[in-house]
Amino acid sequence: MKAGIMCVGTELVTGLTQDMNALFFSQKLVHQGVFPKTVLFVPDDKYDIARVFRFLLQDTEIRLIIICGGLGPTDDDFTKEVIAEILGYQLYFDEGTWQKIRQFYQKIRGIEPPENNKKQALVPQGAVVLTNELGTAPGLKIEVEGKQIFVVPGVPREAEFFWSFIQQSIHEEERLPFYRSKILKFCGIGESQLAIFLQPLLRSLPADVRFAFLPKYGEIWFYLYAYQVDEEKRRKMDEHLDLIARSQYDFLFSPYGDTLEEAIGKLMQAQNLTLAIAESCTGGLLGDRITNIPGSSRYFDRGYIVYSNRAKVEELHVPQNLLETRGAVSEEVALYLAQGARENAQADIGMGITGIAGPQGGSEEKPVGLVYVAIADATQAEVKKYQFGGDRLMNKRFTSQAALSMLFTFLRRRKTA
Ligand code: ATP
Repeated sequence: MKAGIMCVGTELVTGLTQDMNALFFSQKLVHQGVFPKTVLFVPDDKYDIARVFRFLLQDTEIRLIIICGGLGPTDDDFTKEVIAEILGYQLYFDEGTWQKIRQFYQKIRGIEPPENNKKQALVPQGAVVLTNELGTAPGLKIEVEGKQIFVVPGVPREAEFFWSFIQQSIHEEERLPFYRSKILKFCGIGESQLAIFLQPLLRSLPADVRFAFLPKYGEIWFYLYAYQVDEEKRRKMDEHLDLIARSQYDFLFSPYGDTLEEAIGKLMQAQNLTLAIAESCTGGLLGDRITNIPGSSRYFDRGYIVYSNRAKVEELHVPQNLLETRGAVSEEVALYLAQGARENAQADIGMGITGIAGPQGGSEEKPVGLVYVAIADATQAEVKKYQFGGDRLMNKRFTSQAALSMLFTFLRRRKTA
């Protein structure tokens, strides 16, 4: 079975409200073997609701349609009216539904509902009313031309409440044998480079098995999926994924945890190492992320926030003349910060971060977003230059991510060395 989802709300298409309902229903549907092949957002506009509803109706593959939002009592809510009109159904006032709305109102607010709530008791002929136990807008179930249509309110917890009705309507024989492998998460490597490395293995996949690369803040997530999967095929896909994982193991962090911070925590503890960091432009963000992991006190010793040049000199003995000749944002200073943090704290590993978060402080030679991250232990040191192009907060976030990636690959190499 394949499904289509339409979410109604001008706030959703203009970015005022982040969607939760399509996300919720898509995840639930996939889990139930129903593929949500089309997910669309429309403003509170009769023309657009009608256009997209017709589009979903015309798709012969789609057998389940979920429509959410626009069921309120106000004049900008007209999802139900548009649907009834397109299907050629009259709206009638349903006394039973009205009594339920009254009871709900009295229970929650202790008063009679205002007159305009009567609009919510209008039901298209031929629709089954689904009682909303969490709000006033009832849900609807309509069966037409072999399709099941569910219309549910937009408030996320109310929309979720109606999932059990939708789930009941999915019959065993309609479930699509869709399979998505587990997700491999890589860091310290770009998407194109990873794709090049994986090319031979991806070319040897069966024709109907597809793959997806998802870049996320410096991480690359990868998975395999296919629509018609039996046990044997599922096993083969898992084996193939395993080969892919092993071929790029140095960059793969997901076997150690769901997040990069968790993976680092596991590797630090497995190798019995301690860490000290010195941050300039990230202002403590790296330390914050590392210490979000329970048990991080076992490996995270301390963090210095050396924002000013004076702090860099006083706390970590960065030579004054280096700051004058090379500048605070330089390879050399990043290395001094990493070594200084390590030596001061007598930790096994030190990291140093220096950069220009912006929006001010950039120059032609050193533009906003220029960052150096260094890492050092007793025997080796490494520094990397990054040029991010985001705003201040994005640059801080990207820098902390780059530093975590560097730390992870450093630890992986140490382990395998
Ligand atoms: P109500 O009877 O409460 O008005 P409704 O069906 O009319 O319900 P809307 O008016 O469209 O729902 O939305 C109610 C609230 O839920 C709004 O704050 C809206 O932004 C939010 N909302 C609607 N759709 C979504 C969605 N897809 N994801 C997250 N929030 C949503």
